[in-house]
Amino acid sequence: MYKRIEKRNRSKAENNTERICAFCKGTGTDQFALLSSISICQVCAGKGKVEIEEPSIICVFCKGSGIYPSSNSRITCTVCRGKGSVTVYEKTKECPKCKGKGSATESGLPCTKCGGKGVVPFNATH
Ligand SMILES: [Zn+2]
Ligand SMILES: [Zn+2]
Ligand SMILES: [Zn+2]
Repeated sequence: MYKRIEKRNRSKAENNTERICAFCKGTGTDQFALLSSISICQVCAGKGKVEIEEPSIICVFCKGSGIYPSSNSRITCTVCRGKGSVTVYEKTKECPKCKGKGSATESGLPCTKCGGKGVVPFNATH
């Protein structure tokens, strides 16, 4: 797998998209300054940008904000790891369990069926 990536390094841009880091909104600093006093954004390592492997979709769990959606939402979204987008590796369909919302209604935690992406592999049963 690693080799494959090295080999394809030249055409990297084809598969990866550089996006503004959702968690810090491109500032490169941790807006909550929780993890370190120098407040470097943990998601993008201070670069303000993240690389998303394509094809990707907006993370429905955090609605692309990169922030875990809870009452004291000061941590990175566990589904997209703060990037705001998630990679989907195959053809997908709406998750039948959470109806594409990505979260379980009762707990507010990421849906156990789709892992919070809101979509499941197209061939998945149920
Ligand atoms: Zn960032
Ligand atoms: Zn997310
Ligand atoms: Zn789901």
